[in-house]
Amino acid sequence: MAVISIAILLTACNTTKTTTSSEVSQLTDILNRTVVNTPSELSDAMQTAEPGDIIYLASGTWTDVELKIEGYGKEGDTITVMPVEKGKTIFEGTSNVKIGGEYLHVSGLVFKNGYTETSSVINLQIDKDTPANHCRVSECVIDDYNPSERFDTDYWIEIYGKYNRLDHCYLVGKRNRGVTLAVRMKDERDRENFHRIDHNYFGYRAILGSNGGETLRIGTSHYSLSNSNTTVEDNYFEMCNGELEIVSSKSCQNTFINNTFYECQGTLTMRHGNETIVENNYLIGNGKPSTGGIRIINEKQTVRNNYLQGLTGYRFKGALVIMNGVPNSPINRYFPVIDSDMSNNLVIDCDHIQLCAGADEERSEPPSNCTFNNNVISNTKKSKVFTVYDDISGISFNGNILSPNIAYPEYQNRPEESGFTLEDITFTESNGLKTVQSNTPVGPITDRIRPNHSNTGVRWYPRVDYSIKFAEGKRVKVAPGENTIYDAMKELNEGDVLVLQPGDYLQTKSVKVNKAIRIEGPSVGPKPTITFQRSPLFALENGGSLDLDHLNISGSESDDYSGNAVIRTSRYSMVDNYILKVRNCDIEDLDVNHSFNFLKVYKNTFADSILIQNTTFKDVSGHILNMNKEIDDTGIYNVETVEIDNCQFENIGGSAVNLYRGGRDESTFGPMIWMRDSKLVNVGYDKRNANESAIALHGVQHAELTNLTIEDSRRINLHLIVGDPVIKLNTIEMKNTEKLQSNSKAFSSENVTNK
Ligand code: CA
Repeated sequence: MAVISIAILLTACNTTKTTTSSEVSQLTDILNRTVVNTPSELSDAMQTAEPGDIIYLASGTWTDVELKIEGYGKEGDTITVMPVEKGKTIFEGTSNVKIGGEYLHVSGLVFKNGYTETSSVINLQIDKDTPANHCRVSECVIDDYNPSERFDTDYWIEIYGKYNRLDHCYLVGKRNRGVTLAVRMKDERDRENFHRIDHNYFGYRAILGSNGGETLRIGTSHYSLSNSNTTVEDNYFEMCNGELEIVSSKSCQNTFINNTFYECQGTLTMRHGNETIVENNYLIGNGKPSTGGIRIINEKQTVRNNYLQGLTGYRFKGALVIMNGVPNSPINRYFPVIDSDMSNNLVIDCDHIQLCAGADEERSEPPSNCTFNNNVISNTKKSKVFTVYDDISGISFNGNILSPNIAYPEYQNRPEESGFTLEDITFTESNGLKTVQSNTPVGPITDRIRPNHSNTGVRWYPRVDYSIKFAEGKRVKVAPGENTIYDAMKELNEGDVLVLQPGDYLQTKSVKVNKAIRIEGPSVGPKPTITFQRSPLFALENGGSLDLDHLNISGSESDDYSGNAVIRTSRYSMVDNYILKVRNCDIEDLDVNHSFNFLKVYKNTFADSILIQNTTFKDVSGHILNMNKEIDDTGIYNVETVEIDNCQFENIGGSAVNLYRGGRDESTFGPMIWMRDSKLVNVGYDKRNANESAIALHGVQHAELTNLTIEDSRRINLHLIVGDPVIKLNTIEMKNTEKLQSNSKAFSSENVTNK
């Protein structure tokens, strides 16, 4: 323990003016502070701490420390642990904290530049015998605190015990598998916990490409029929994109009130447990892909007075979703929806409301004794907002108002208009939100402040933007010659652009890419030509993303080995997602030996998106995009979205595209592909092309193949598995090409010819 430093005293008391009595008392206060510098000093201080004491953590970087904070305050007289100055005590390396006891308040911890080797970064229990009760964790920051292995699992925060509060925390940049914040209910002493989770800022969470990317989970299926009584209120969720469930409520009697979900890909899901209330929340998608709403499973759930705007998600991630259930369901499957209410919600420009969603042979029991009343649903573009997958006679509809273009929900002989009125809906707008006059209050009725990025989380830590941005940095000219790209790359920062002139660029060394970098040639005239000896030309490392524009890339100088690649991901797990863009390029002569790929990916790597436009690929012995390295069939895959526009593939030994997602897991959105206005000639015939296809889509969730010409090539191969995938083939002209193959007829096909 240490006496507080003079520097801090000087900061605390303004010495340039006469010292007032309150400043004197502040000074006395500071002189009596207990400041600890190490975990063992903290333990010692906690052992003698009395209710009402404050223990201060010294400023500085604490590396690889494992704090155990155990103490016993009293109601109204807590023991507080906090930094001398918020934002100046930083935990790095493998640091983590365990908190146990009663009436403790831990505040202002910052975790960054590291990860935890334990199950969680902040754990509200020290061990099985020492949970936290009546404790508060506030103003803590966990920022990009991830292990390098994508599928090593951890939580950022676990809450055990009862009557704990987590508030004003800022949690941003989780990338590996594992729930960001979990309320645990393993033991009796963790149930009926009445925890309060409020005013937190849940920032960007990257797409995981697997189950296990939830931002908040309360309970697990095993104890889901117990009450948790957790209240989640006044929180802000922004771009929490990990997986289908932003929130997975898996216990009874939880309350979600006045939270904002902003541009989140996913839904608030009542996955297990009953009697949960979801009201006065704001779910704002702004038309972003895969943004979802609120999903009901189980009994006695209430979804009322919510505001849903611009949500585009389909099926389980619709704006409002009522699921079908499994008769006599095992506890980990889908209990039927019974006695549940979805009323007085305001739904503006959302693409999908899904009733009896997930109906299939197993989920064969439709909702019963449910109500859908007084919702106001407006859409300026779309008429088919409702999708009805099974019998909706167990849902009573009353007093709902639809804008005139919206079609009623249809099911067999149901008098479809009953319970719905078509009306021109007039909105009043204030603070960017719409309100509507109606007989009963529709949309949020609370007078609470709507959570946003500035009134949640902490005030003293900068907001971090983890979206990948190209071309926002400096432009660096690179002259033709040997290894000039390799050399220039060393000096670059995130978002910088390499500007190439016409001429020849030979790389004798692989170019490592660990930032978002754009490499471009002149937009008119001859393209610069890049050749390379070592494979790959570009090695994507963790943090790397690549945008190639107006380049000619040739494999003519490549070493005579099999398995070369133009672009290759790390051979090891990449916890950062990447983006690849290739536009206006000519890629040729990748054929010095067999299995020369354009992009070569490894297991445990993930692309947020791959865009290929106006590009030709010619004389390639391997694959162009071969995204099939997750073969465990557990619902993991290698890329979220692929877009191919106006491209030519000629003399390609492997596939133009091979996407693979195996297994029956339903917790993700991808992979998705849009392939348009492109031509394939002699694609797929190399004897090493194991999937024997020019285009192979296995377990893909959304595919639109439009206006393609395919000549002298191997087949399109579709393997549809799970999740009602949307597969559309439109205007595909095949000549001397193998017949399309599919395990299922559940796709649409228009103007597809084969001569
Ligand atoms: Ca999940």
